Amino acid sequence: MHELPVTESILAIVLKHAEKNKVKRVVTISLRVGELSDLEDEWIQRYFDYLSKGTLAEGAKLEIERSPVVLQCGECGMSFHVNFREVDEVVCPRCSGKKNSLVSGREYFIKNIAVV
Ligand SMILES: [Zn+2]
Repeated sequence: MHELPVTESILAIVLKHAEKNKVKRVVTISLRVGELSDLEDEWIQRYFDYLSKGTLAEGAKLEIERSPVVLQCGECGMSFHVNFREVDEVVCPRCSGKKNSLVSGREYFIKNIAVV
């Protein structure tokens, strides 16, 4: 259950933004979530509905976009995308190196907030 603290922090950021800009209501929140993070879209929305009751963001819809996993080769420095569901072993497409480090894929951030 990683979604609850994540959703709490998302809501806090959204409400801060809403108060600062004197909005009436938050309609949509666009999130970008790394493919490797184990956040489930459905749970984020569920927690959000629960946590946002009585706030400016009540009823807002979350639009969740997955950002691809990017690795960097430790041998030649090349950055490349990986779909972990399709490969068993990750090797660099240029030099077949196996010492790869994660560049992105676990992050999450708010891309856009639509308000009225
Ligand atoms: Zn390489």
